[in-house]
Amino acid sequence: MFIVWGKKLVYRKVGHVADFCPICRKPSSFELQRVGSAGHIYYISAGEGELVGHERRCSVCSTTFHAQPSVYASVSKTTAPLPDLIAKTFPNLHVLLKERLALEQRVQSQPATLSRDERHALIRNPFLLLSPKVEKRYAATHLDLEIGLSFLAAVLLLIFGASAVRVVAPDHAEQSALVFAVLGILLVGWQFVQSGRRFMRREIVPVLAKSLAPLKPTRAELQTVSNELRQLRHKIGSKLRLADLEERLSMNMSTARRDPQL
Ligand SMILES: [Zn+2]
Repeated sequence: MFIVWGKKLVYRKVGHVADFCPICRKPSSFELQRVGSAGHIYYISAGEGELVGHERRCSVCSTTFHAQPSVYASVSKTTAPLPDLIAKTFPNLHVLLKERLALEQRVQSQPATLSRDERHALIRNPFLLLSPKVEKRYAATHLDLEIGLSFLAAVLLLIFGASAVRVVAPDHAEQSALVFAVLGILLVGWQFVQSGRRFMRREIVPVLAKSLAPLKPTRAELQTVSNELRQLRHKIGSKLRLADLEERLSMNMSTARRDPQL
């Protein structure tokens, strides 16, 4: 009998903490998770495994970052309004992160005072922070809803298409089955190719656009960062279409103009 076994990462929720979110560009609440490596048989593991590290996931943008639990005064078992969570878990947040918060204040209220290098670093940072998510997505094969539907459509096409031809032109039934099978394979293949872009448009572009919006980056600035990351072999550099990002950025800007409270 073939037994599937090995090591897998096990995530265990530790609690809630307040910290700075570099994607949201402000303090936020996070769920803190312990990451362990545990042995599994058929992907079922016992226990939390050997400690690998900790992660924190922003409750606003859902981005996950590496976490260092020792920086927190305590970990809250329950979530709470942000000021309460800061007081309880990270009371010196505004002191320790004074410089970063001052820089973000300039991003929001005086973006014209930012130097070229500061802008470059501030634009590149969200790309780098989202890069692991893109790498993870492209490291394995993923099936999304559209691929599933295209597979179903291919099967239905083969069954009903071939049956219809058998009635209308019985002499061509065999050839038509082959044609329908090829069409089905092309349909599923096309959806596989499109699924990467769908992932980028759904999971990466909205978060990236929200983070970059206050900087109003130009096409040249985005292109520079994208080229740099592509040269460093980050998949986000080659998979992200700048046109998709610019479209989302202009959508965000027009929403912000309509409702300045957002
Ligand atoms: Zn966030």
